[in-house]
Formats: sequence, structure tokens, C-alpha cells
Amino acid sequence: MTQQTGFAYHPDYLNHDTGPNHPERPDRLRASLAALQESEVWEQLHPIEPVPARVAQLCYAHNPAYPEHIRRHCEQEIPLTYDTTVGHESYDIALLSTGGVLRVAEAVAIGTVKNAFAMVRPPGHHATQGQSMGFCLFNNIAIAARYLQREHGVGKVAIVDWDVHHGNGTQDIFYEDETVFFFSIHQSPLYPGTGSRYEQGSEKARGTTLNVPMPEGSGDDEYIAVFTDVLIPALRDFSPEVILISAGFDAHYLDPLAGTELTADGFSTLTDLILELAEETASGRVISALEGGYSLEGVSESVVAHVERLLKFDGSV
Ligand SMILES: [Zn+2]
Repeated sequence: MTQQTGFAYHPDYLNHDTGPNHPERPDRLRASLAALQESEVWEQLHPIEPVPARVAQLCYAHNPAYPEHIRRHCEQEIPLTYDTTVGHESYDIALLSTGGVLRVAEAVAIGTVKNAFAMVRPPGHHATQGQSMGFCLFNNIAIAARYLQREHGVGKVAIVDWDVHHGNGTQDIFYEDETVFFFSIHQSPLYPGTGSRYEQGSEKARGTTLNVPMPEGSGDDEYIAVFTDVLIPALRDFSPEVILISAGFDAHYLDPLAGTELTADGFSTLTDLILELAEETASGRVISALEGGYSLEGVSESVVAHVERLLKFDGSV
């Protein structure tokens, strides 16, 4: 019998050491896990055990030399960029982070669960084919999209990225790929500076990249209006077989790295809107993976709200 919602997490995710005072820190997951365990949703989740992604799977989205480049930096604890710091164990944990997303993707693809959330770190959406940046080593969500296509025969995939920062890495990876629709809503101007409305995909994939930059101060109402008026019609046109979510929760009003004003209730509604559309085109199949979110209170209450909707969605908003 298909269960409603899978959940992947591994305690080794806490061992990715980004150094003192780094916003992408283990406490993000500790706080989110504690909040989930204290909530009524915890007992209802179907646990999924992450296993490390294989190097060949990383290369679904990355250059062949890239995994070894990351491995060497981690082994020697050399930062990948000024803000993308790594520890000795970070390579293995990054494989386990990607692997967590692949395992929930597999569970949804084979019908063990209807939807799933992978609570992983390090995050992935800033990593391009050959460049790590913005706390991201391997592009978990991009690898999962190609994994579904190559190992599970899925055709069209949509990625919805609501992290407050533009998902530049994911965009780059699929810019010429008309089989993957990429949507990003993000604060602008803000790191990494990309994601204008005019970035719409290469000539042959025109229209399969959709960016909606939002001014500082945007909140639930503005985000819900964009989802209702822009994203949902575009997804309906594209008609994906699976929807992936790059679920960063740094658009939360408490987040120290951004100036948008979303609430946990806002993330609930965004989740419902995607689930409703997924019922139309994708048999309800939704795979969500954690990206950013740097306020412990903001990320943990948003994770609970998001997972609650994945579990309780009954087909109508
Ligand atoms: Zn972010």
C-alpha cells in the first residue's frame, strides 16, 4: 500500500563541519528534527534511510572531474569558496545528502510513498555543473531530476525553487534542457545576483526556465499571488510527471540572510498549491528537499508546516 509521505534524514548530516559562526550549521537540522518529533506529524511519516549517491549519479548533473575536485578540497579542508567551507567528512556527507534526495525520489517513483521530504545538508541549488558556491557542494535536486529520468523512465520533470536565493546552479544545469521546467521565486537584489525575468532558457528550451524576482518585504500574499497567477498556469502548460521542490525556508520573516516576510502558514499554502497541481498532472508525485533556512525558529516551524501539508493534503486547497 502506498503511504502518504516519506521522510529522509541521517544523523551524519550533523557532521558536515562548516566552521564557527557559519549560518549553514548543524543546529538547523537539530532544531527542525526536534520540532518534527514534537509535532503530531512525526508518527505518520514513512522513514526512508539515506544511502550515499554514487559518483556516476553525481555526474548526471556535474562534470566528470567535479566530484574528485570536491573530494580533494574536503580531504584537505580547503574552502571551495570564501563562504563554502568544508570539513574532513564533508565529501562523504555530501554524497549522503544527495543520496537522501535520491532515496526519496526512488520511493515516490516506485510508489512506496506518494510524496516525500528529504531533510538534508549540505544544500545544493547553487552548485553548477563545475562550481560549488553558496554553501552547496552537489546539486541534490538537479541530480534527482536526472536520476528520475535515467533510472525510472520519467519524462518531464518540474523543479519549483522557493529558496529566497536564486537557484542559479539548477538553472544553469537545465538551461538547455526542455524536459526539465525550472521555476525560481527569489528576493532581488540578493545573492547570487542572477535570476532576472529575462533568463528564460536557451533557444531550444525557451520558456522552460521561469524566474520571478521579488522585492525585499514581499510576504505571503505576494508569493501566493505569484504561485496562483504565474507558476500554476505555467506548470499546467508544461504538464510535469513529477514535481520537485527546492525547499529553502530562508524567505521566512525571521531569517537573518534575507528581507522577505513569509510565515510558516504561507509555506503551507505554497505547498498546497503545488500538491493540487501535482494531482492534475503528476499523480500527486512531489519530492521536496531542504535547501536554505538560517533562523532556527523560522526553518523548524516552516519544515513542520510543509511536512504537515504533504501528509494531510486531501486533493483540494
Ligand atoms: Zn537560500
